[in-house]
Amino acid sequence: MSPEDIRDIIETLRAFNRRFQEPIVTEVSRERRSPFAILIATLISLRTKDDVTRAASRRLLALADTPEKMVQLPIPAIEKAIYPAGFYKTKAKRIHDICETLIQKYQGGVPDTLEALLELKGVGRKTANLVITQGFGKLGICVDTHVHRISNRLGLVQTKTPDKTEMSLRKILPKEFWIEYNDLLVTFGQNHCTPLSPRCSSCPITSHCRKIGVERFR
Ligand code: SF4
Repeated sequence: MSPEDIRDIIETLRAFNRRFQEPIVTEVSRERRSPFAILIATLISLRTKDDVTRAASRRLLALADTPEKMVQLPIPAIEKAIYPAGFYKTKAKRIHDICETLIQKYQGGVPDTLEALLELKGVGRKTANLVITQGFGKLGICVDTHVHRISNRLGLVQTKTPDKTEMSLRKILPKEFWIEYNDLLVTFGQNHCTPLSPRCSSCPITSHCRKIGVERFR
């Protein structure tokens, strides 16, 4: 796919997505502009629907919006604040532990490099890239299940895992689109190019799409 085709996909999705609600982490980023809030919302969001993440993040960040305040909370209080997020007990302990590390190693700040973020227990490439891009405005490509699926359907990449998709995208995606690529494809994936039966017959980027692996569509 040529750089012009990629640019057309990005510009088309920017306009098309205006009708949909933005992803939760984008919303948190716009509201709070805090790497810590992005980190917490992303940790809560793993395997959890956006609506649940939205409410859970608001409840928890209202109680504690810094690592220092978070470690003052008993773990059951964190559990209660983020319930019914998936794996809320595991996540509550993880959030508590990460905040202790942030205090011990980073004076209560959030590190701004992928390498340092990946050293935090329970932080994978998806979370680290989201903190880098949405929290710090630095270059990165966050690949979640939507970005992985749609990039493969389009034929932009041919990969088996999100991590491999990230590495392939780093080679072919113009850097000017790295930060917003996640936001655009997550919104599009939640609402239009859905996992089962995507809406290909009314898709604004169908002329660019090879529909790889799509067996049923609307
Ligand atoms: Fe997704 Fe279908 Fe559009 Fe391709 S044509 S991007 S598979 S909805």
